[in-house]
Amino acid sequence: MNIKTNIEKILNEINPYKAVLVAVTKTKPIDALQEAYNFGIRDFGENKVQELVEKEEKLPKDIKWHMIGHLQRNKVKYIAPFVYLIHAVDSLKLLQEINKQGKKSNRIIKCLLQVHIAEEETKFGFSMDELTSLFDDATFDGLKNIQVKGLMGMATFTENADQVRKEFKGLKELYQSITDRHDGKENVDFEILSMGMSGDFRIALDEGSTMVRVGSSIFGERN
Ligand SMILES: *Cc1c(COP(=O)(O)O)cnc(C)c1O
Repeated sequence: MNIKTNIEKILNEINPYKAVLVAVTKTKPIDALQEAYNFGIRDFGENKVQELVEKEEKLPKDIKWHMIGHLQRNKVKYIAPFVYLIHAVDSLKLLQEINKQGKKSNRIIKCLLQVHIAEEETKFGFSMDELTSLFDDATFDGLKNIQVKGLMGMATFTENADQVRKEFKGLKELYQSITDRHDGKENVDFEILSMGMSGDFRIALDEGSTMVRVGSSIFGERN
């Protein structure tokens, strides 16, 4: 597993699209992150709060830390002082807690709303309808210490590329319609569409992704 070669190969595929590569480092040791850092990677994604906090303490301070996993409300406080972007916001209650902790840290915390686009029942996220009502909820407008930067989605885990493409296409359409309708709000500034992982980032880029989250294709399979 040559991290440098893998990063170069993936960047060559991503750069024509001007998308951002988030290197997903969950379960990987500090050495692996340091190696990616040395090759110029600054965006790192983790899915567990404790692991994220531990790694943040040990690595250079110019890293942008992305929380990409399901986030429990009682853990927001641990990452609020430094997190760069929270990808998987899936309820108004979580947004309210992020807002509260953002205020305490004197920050405006950037968030993405996770949308449920996959067939599988287990994947978290707003349904399309829930998302529409979120923006119409009066509570939402009062959240001054968050900024919703866009949407995040995970496609169904399947070999069927047509299905994956269809799901990403749907997310892009939703992204566009929300941009058109709500981008005037003070706490909404759509510019990030986070979709695509090791197995499907090429399709995602084709369908308009601006940020891909790639782990195993860089660092090898996880145990
Ligand atoms: C683990 C993970 C990834 C990266 O998955 P790979 O298949 O290893 O590239 C991307 N997004 C989320 C939310 C993840 O949990």
